[in-house]
Amino acid sequence: MIFEWQAQPWKNWTRLRERLPHAILLQSGEGLGEFEFAQACAQSLLCEDPRPGERPCGACRACDWFSLGNHPDFRLIVPESMAPEPGEEGAEPAKKKSEQIRIEQVRELADFLAVGTHRAGLRVILVYPAEAMNANTQNALLKNLEEPPPATVFLLVTTQPERLLATVRSRCLRFALPFPPPEPVLRWLKEQGLEHPEATLAGAGGAPLAALKAAGTDPDRLVFIESLGNPGFDPIALAETVLRVPLWDLAGWLQRWTYDLLLARVAGRVRYSLNHEEVISDMARHCDPADIAAYLRRLAQARALARHPLNAKLFVEDLLLQYQRLVARP
Ligand SMILES: [Zn+2]
Repeated sequence: MIFEWQAQPWKNWTRLRERLPHAILLQSGEGLGEFEFAQACAQSLLCEDPRPGERPCGACRACDWFSLGNHPDFRLIVPESMAPEPGEEGAEPAKKKSEQIRIEQVRELADFLAVGTHRAGLRVILVYPAEAMNANTQNALLKNLEEPPPATVFLLVTTQPERLLATVRSRCLRFALPFPPPEPVLRWLKEQGLEHPEATLAGAGGAPLAALKAAGTDPDRLVFIESLGNPGFDPIALAETVLRVPLWDLAGWLQRWTYDLLLARVAGRVRYSLNHEEVISDMARHCDPADIAAYLRRLAQARALARHPLNAKLFVEDLLLQYQRLVARP
């Protein structure tokens, strides 16, 4: 899917295709529709009847296979937690699925790469998010990047390029997906039924899909954000409430809220939480900017760890306790 705010990046993509490298690192902010864009790129490389602007036709055999997830010359490598759910609704809740891309998933590419392509066209491997590979897994992939088989394109998508090995990065051509201009995004968010697209988009740091998610039926987020504004909350109960929310998202909510605390303290304004400006400004008056900055650093570390297996509940409790200490009135 190519979102309407991705018109310019798509033009850049078609230019890049004129001299197609064998490995591309698609670098993006989070929630910009980066995965959908990468999928459209992959599909456009496989489509057998492309439309003007190299857009995939959506009707040929290759496009059919692609949308069913079984094109013989395509491999999608994502963490187990993102893979489509087999099984039926109402079944036993599955045990927590891995947030990481396993090394076996990369090793399994060997067979795929050893034979010729099925459709006499290109072969495409999409890895998302690339930072979900640990160093060993990245090294396993590196072997393929160093000696790519013919007619093969690796598409790595990342929102955290600094977590990729320099050797992996250097084997890829970098392709940036920039933050979109607000007009088409606001129009799109209105079409999705958002009542306050401006404030929501600001709250999501300008990222359209993050805004949609935030505005949507995410009661966990509402409870969580309201609690941050009433710091008498019980951290253990709150951590329990948001147990289903990925750590990565939680740490992001805390990060934006805390960033606004700092901004309110030092510059008298907020950037993300426009609906809570008053509460934040009031709380910020009692905080030491150096303490806020230290907590922000802690959150950044937490976020970097968020995709690794650990005791999520303890982790969140700890972050919340630190937050309470930060905003406690003297
Ligand atoms: Zn097609």
